[in-house]
Parts: sequence; C-alpha cells; structure tokens
Amino acid sequence: MSQAQAAFLAPIVQLIESELAPQVQAIDQEGKYPADFMHKLGALGGFSAALPAEYGNNLGLAAQVAVTAAVAEQCGSTAFLVWCQSSCAWYLHNSDNAAVRDRYLKDVAHGRLLAGTGMSNTVKHLAGIEKIQLRARREGDTYVVNGSLPWVSNVGDGHLAIVAAAVEDEGYIMFAVPSTASGFQYRPCLEFSGLEGTQTLTLRFQNVVVPAEDVVAHPDQFTDYIRRIKPGFVLGQIGMGIGIVRACAAIARDSNASVGHVNVFLDVQESDLTAELAGIEQQITELAPVAQAGAADMLPILKARAAISELTLKAANSAVLHAGAKGYLMIHPAQRRLREAVFVAIVTPALKHLRKEIHALEAQGLETAAA
Ligand SMILES: Cc1cc2nc3c(=O)[nH]c(=O)nc-3n(C[C@H](O)[C@H](O)[C@H](O)COP(=O)(O)OP(=O)(O)OC[C@H]3O[C@@H](n4cnc5c(N)ncnc54)[C@H](O)[C@@H]3O)c2cc1C
Repeated sequence: MSQAQAAFLAPIVQLIESELAPQVQAIDQEGKYPADFMHKLGALGGFSAALPAEYGNNLGLAAQVAVTAAVAEQCGSTAFLVWCQSSCAWYLHNSDNAAVRDRYLKDVAHGRLLAGTGMSNTVKHLAGIEKIQLRARREGDTYVVNGSLPWVSNVGDGHLAIVAAAVEDEGYIMFAVPSTASGFQYRPCLEFSGLEGTQTLTLRFQNVVVPAEDVVAHPDQFTDYIRRIKPGFVLGQIGMGIGIVRACAAIARDSNASVGHVNVFLDVQESDLTAELAGIEQQITELAPVAQAGAADMLPILKARAAISELTLKAANSAVLHAGAKGYLMIHPAQRRLREAVFVAIVTPALKHLRKEIHALEAQGLETAAA
C-alpha cells in the first residue's frame, strides 16, 4: 500500500471503528440503514477514491476496493452500500453527458446524495440470462419509462437511482432518477435473511419522464459506455469479499486460541485463507489500473470476481466451523458472515452468471485461436 493510500485510509478506518462497529448488530438484526455513516464516509472521500481530483482523491480503483474491504471487515451489508454509492459515482464520472455529471456527480461522490444502482437486470439481460424489465419510448429529447425492478438497494426518499431501460428499436439507455420523479414509486421487498440494512426496495416506473439532463448514456452511446464501466463495476465488488474473508480469518484465529488443538483437523485453515486472499489482492493491484482506464480484458476480472465469491463462501464456512457452537449464536459474527458471504456469491454478477460469462469468453477465445 502506498503512503498516500495509507494516509487516505487511516481516518476511514477510524470512522468505521467509531461509527459503524457499534451499529453492526442493529444493521444485521433490525435492518437499520446506516445513512449517517454513509454521509460521513462520503465526506472522507470513501466513494470517490477512483475519481479525478476535481471530484475525488485520484488514488484509483484499488484504493476504492480498499475502502470497501475495510468496511466489509466490520459489516458486509454496509460494504455493499459503499459499492452501490461508489459505483453510481463511477457511472456518472464515465458518462459522456456533461449535464448529468453536473447535476449529480459531486453530491454522489461526496455522499451528500445517496444513490442506488439497479443494474442487475440489465447486466443479466446483456449476458443472455433474463428479459429486460424497464422499457422506454423516446419523445423528442426525453424518454418515458415503464416497468419495475424487484430489488434495488440504497434507494428511497431523497435518494437517486441509476438504472437502464430498453428503448423501442434503438437499443438501451441508462439514466438517473430522483426519488421525487412523477410516476416513480418504491415499495418494501419481502424480508431477506441478511443485508436487511441496505434499504433494498422494489422500484416501479409508471410513465416516468426522463429529461435529457438525467440521461447517463443514450442508445448510440450505450455499448461503448457499458464496455467502459463494466470492468470497474465488477472489480469494485471484490472489496466486499476481501473484507469478509479477512474477518473470517480473524474468527478462525481467535477460536484457535482456545480450541486450536481440534481446529487443526479442519480442512480450511486460517493460513489457507490468508494465502488465497493474498493472491486475489495481488490480482486487484494489477487489474485495477487497467479497469480504471476502461480498456480491460474482462476475462481476468470475471475470474478474480468468481475467485473471491468462492473464497468468501469457503472462508465463512471455515469461520463457523472454527468457532463451533459459539459461532451459531445470533450475537456471534460467524453466522452473520455466512449470510453476507452468500450475498457476495448471489449478487449480480452471481457466481453462476460469472461462470457463464467466463465459459462464453473462453469458448470464443478457442474459436478465434482455431480460426
Ligand atoms: C439483499 C439484496 C440486495 C440487492 N440489491 C440489488 C441492487 O442494489 N441492485 C440490483 O440491480 N440488484 C440487486 N439485487 C439483485 C441481485 O443482484 C440479483 O439480481 C439477484 O440476487 C438474483 O440473481 P440471480 O442471478 O441469482 O438470479 P435468479 O435468482 O436466478 O433469478 C431468478 C429470476 O428472478 C428474477 N430476477 C432476479 N433478479 C432480478 C433483477 N435484478 N431484476 C429483475 N428480475 C430479476 C428474474 O425473473 C430471474 O429470471 C439484490 C438482491 C438481494 C438479495
């Protein structure tokens, strides 16, 4: 870690310890949404590490991953919010449309305006997994949007959502929608087994008018735009897994102090977790600058994202087995980590989705090599 990155992270780690750590049980058990923490993290640059000096810290995507990892070490649910917020800043920063950047980027980057990314459906749709849920029709300079998205986090009153829709005969648009937009509604979802503190809601669009100033990418910009943002979108999520794996390794280490003589017979030891994690962290250091430039080859990024999903699941299982019955108590972090780890593997791109895209890219590579 560079000196600049260490200096940037120090107050963030302090904030996590003083403001987030005391709330973790309430976030997990009562679904408390840590809005205050998010605003304070934003003020410290916790969502804008990858942005240029005008909006952020200019430290790069690896520093943003480090922030998300530091938050996840304490709370995987809040780390997902950090990813949502920093991704929205990333989307806006990469937009070719100055109007939407001017409207929202500073406030989102600094955590004054909290924002959710409802891109799972589109990302899955573009990978041939499911139908697109939002449809738009063009009316002059504006678009009119209808449809619904079942699960979008970090949204609600006073928030912004960034989503995409299919446009009749033209392709797709990506756009921002403020909570006050006419015809835009959000409703609670059925209760989740974890991540209840992420304010995850169902978004409904009924003839929502999207003005040109809220368009992040028009149909003729969309393909290039998605190609530019996707490496950072996927890479950024790895921070959630890194923090959870670190926390699980710590649980294993603590448990070993009293029952190390039996834990030694478990398949996955703390040293296995930390060694595998070091490998993934090294990959992040190498991949982040390329992803930042928007020119990255997706295959190694998808593989690193799949590797962290697998390692997070393994680490959380190992943590529970190390902790034993104590780890099964609701107050023990081991069982919370299990639920958080599963989320890392099911949030889009889910492990099964990653394997599908990896398979497709490898098959394409083989075809090209054979031609
Ligand atoms: C706690 C929580 C928070 C989430 N937060 C967000 C968020 O902030 N932004 C976001 O975009 N997604 C969010 N999601 C959705 C998530 O990223 C995945 O899309 C979801 O977990 C399903 O993924 P899957 O690949 O397992 O799909 P599957 O479970 O295999 O999908 C089954 C079917 O469910 C429907 N479906 C599933 N996911 C979606 C979707 N996202 N949109 C429309 N239809 C869908 C489709 O009909 C699909 O074919 C969240 C999910 C959870 C559980």
